[in-house]
Amino acid sequence: MINVGLIAHDGKKPEMVSFVVANKEFLSKTKIYATGTTGGHIAREGFDVECLLSGPKGGDAQIAALLATGRIDVVIFFRDPLDKHPHEPDVQMLMRLCDVHNIPLATNPRTAYYILKGMESTMQGN
Ligand code: PGA
Repeated sequence: MINVGLIAHDGKKPEMVSFVVANKEFLSKTKIYATGTTGGHIAREGFDVECLLSGPKGGDAQIAALLATGRIDVVIFFRDPLDKHPHEPDVQMLMRLCDVHNIPLATNPRTAYYILKGMESTMQGN
């Protein structure tokens, strides 16, 4: 089973909800971990989600720890580049660890779409 980490900054939560709904068929076959508030929105769309702490309280750091220990295979993190974030150090740490561990990281919906398509076709052996 694929383990997915989902995070969206406040200004990007509507895009995250639209994204998960549009990709429900694929995502409902994965194990989803999400930061607290993002996870709440996703759960309301009928997904089974393991909700971690809210991002500013350590949720991004928890996602980072999970991917660093091999328990998350892909991260979809819709960052809001037009806003400031008190937990920016955690955001940078999470992105750095994706590169350290060669974990696919999508920071916008179009990239996320192509990553999921790629994973889907890899699973189908194409
Ligand atoms: P949230 O955290 O899902 O708890 O809002 C996201 C973030 O800001 O990192």
